[in-house]
Amino acid sequence: MESPVTAFTQISDFLEYLSDDFTANEAVAGTLAGLDRNPKFPFLCSRHYADLIKKASEPAALLHEILPTTEELASVPGFVDDPVGDLPAGKAESIIQKYDRRALIVSTATCGARCRFCFRKNYPFQNNPDVARQVSDWLDTHNDIWEVILSGGDPLTLGPGAFRDLAEAIAMHGSVTTLRIHTRLPVMRPDVAMQHFELLRELPARFDCVLVSHVDHPDELDEESQAVFGQLKYCGWTLLNQSVLLKGVNNNADTLEKLSRRLFEQGVLPYYLHQLDHANGVAHFEVNDDEARRLIAEIRTRLPGYLVPKLVREIAGEKSKTPV
Ligand code: SF4
Repeated sequence: MESPVTAFTQISDFLEYLSDDFTANEAVAGTLAGLDRNPKFPFLCSRHYADLIKKASEPAALLHEILPTTEELASVPGFVDDPVGDLPAGKAESIIQKYDRRALIVSTATCGARCRFCFRKNYPFQNNPDVARQVSDWLDTHNDIWEVILSGGDPLTLGPGAFRDLAEAIAMHGSVTTLRIHTRLPVMRPDVAMQHFELLRELPARFDCVLVSHVDHPDELDEESQAVFGQLKYCGWTLLNQSVLLKGVNNNADTLEKLSRRLFEQGVLPYYLHQLDHANGVAHFEVNDDEARRLIAEIRTRLPGYLVPKLVREIAGEKSKTPV
């Protein structure tokens, strides 16, 4: 039997999968109007995310996150290739250190999808088959590091063997007490995230484990993301979420309120709401600071404090995120 498509790399296949009836919907058609069929940052969307779009209450919002448009071609002053200063903070291949005694590992350059607003969309990162050994060597000489953050790309796209090698290389270093994973797979490829379940279940015996998901819209959460989060919570992971404030996706109080409540229903606490990083090709997603503060003030009146994310911006060279 032919195996089902798990991801779309061709926009035409993706649109065909969504179907003519769907794409004729007025709100969806508006998003499709500016389509760029040959984007510099190539199109990639998982079938799971395409299914979320089909059943979304606001399909145009999710489409906007994933569909390349000609707006990405605009050159806007202040928008650059490395907006958060990752490249100068590189300490060794695949290792970035910006903050005191914490290090971030670019575990892979691969993601479950290519989000159009991604701050890393212009980075030269490559997959590094030697990442586990290089991280281990670096930690040998940096025993002040107590938290290691696995980022990417998406670390859960690593094959089970490579992911285990990396986790075990870090676990050999007793100074590292906290392991944090940044991932969008629970909403992009929950099936792939679950391939790692055996290892994810073991890790809390060795580290304090934190999973920071990246969910921007309540329609991204369904019973499959709930299954991933539920299993991890049961195994002792702390579950947090970070979102990016995105024009045309989540820049209204109703959507942000619903996102916080649905995350909580799935066992996840809203942690950060990021102002957009100024990467080349993303300016059309920008929400200005006054509007962002107004939205946070509004949801603060609707939600308990623990469901209101911190509104922050990352400024290159700063020693922490900056409250907005
Ligand atoms: S999953 Fe994260 S790193 Fe990957 S494209 Fe989306 S925002 Fe960028």
